[in-house]
Amino acid sequence: FKINMEDLELHDVLGKGNYGEVRKVRHTKTGVEMAMKEIRLELDASKLNAIIMELDILHRAVSPEIVEFYGAFFIESCVFYCMEFMDAGSLESLLNGPCSVPEPVLARITSRMVSGLAFLKDSLQIMHRDVKPTNVLVNSRGEVKLCDFGVSGQLEKSLAKTNIGCQSYMAPERIKGESMAMPSTYTVASDVWSLGLSIVEAGLGVYPYPPETYSNVFAQLQAIVHGDPPQLPAEAYSDVARAFVAGCLEKVAERRFTYAQMMRHPWLVADQERGADGVDMVGWVKGAMQKRKEKKEAASRGTTPVTPTNA
Ligand code: ADP
Repeated sequence: FKINMEDLELHDVLGKGNYGEVRKVRHTKTGVEMAMKEIRLELDASKLNAIIMELDILHRAVSPEIVEFYGAFFIESCVFYCMEFMDAGSLESLLNGPCSVPEPVLARITSRMVSGLAFLKDSLQIMHRDVKPTNVLVNSRGEVKLCDFGVSGQLEKSLAKTNIGCQSYMAPERIKGESMAMPSTYTVASDVWSLGLSIVEAGLGVYPYPPETYSNVFAQLQAIVHGDPPQLPAEAYSDVARAFVAGCLEKVAERRFTYAQMMRHPWLVADQERGADGVDMVGWVKGAMQKRKEKKEAASRGTTPVTPTNA
């Protein structure tokens, strides 16, 4: 079915994106709850139509590890993108300091991300291009799904890269490529780097190249290109887990794990053997949501300093 603004009942704002708000909405004709993302663009109708047409490929992106796409429409120069509502929010918002993700949960999150990325590549022949913990969404059923992957060239071109941010998940070869203005250093291996960095961030509870360590963004990017790759903390994660991550964070793209290698890796094989009921994802999500709520309440009472979170 086609979605229009008239069929949507607007609810709470779920978060703020780089280009507009994300709101919870209800599709009145079907009763389906959705998340609606607003993308403010200064474009004419022909370009907006091209974007809506390109986004249509998302109707084929149906997989348990991909946030379901319901449809998109535009009003004036705004694209509204409707997707499955994920009630626990992003993986990033569920991280509570170092080692807050138990290893079996981390392995399950990783295996879901690998399945999602392999699906995009094998079934749709697309790369994600923006793998990071804010683009991994979670729900209270314990499901983990990817969102925000690049399907529309026109949309990508139209999003002014104003906010490069202080957290880069770009692989070393991409950083080098961009600095030399070479556009096509991007391969599927670059997504694998971003995946590895996201797993390490989940284990550490913070972005692995903390901005306060570097005097500027340039120094931080230099560390990604020239420094040793980050690792999962040895005190909380097994050697197998650490070896898996090291295979994703190989600085030379050609040496990085492929999705097939990852699926055969003992860390993910063990996850598969644990099976659907072998990991208490529901319990972990519930606990992490509770801690997030307490932190937010404490912050609003002023009992702990409010640390700005990086959206
Ligand atoms: P952008 O990529 O433009 O910065 P995001 O995708 O990060 O925007 O969205 C901003 C916030 O909105 C997220 O951090 C998340 O909390 C919330 N959000 C986004 N999509 C969903 C969704 N499908 N379900 C629930 N919350 C969502």
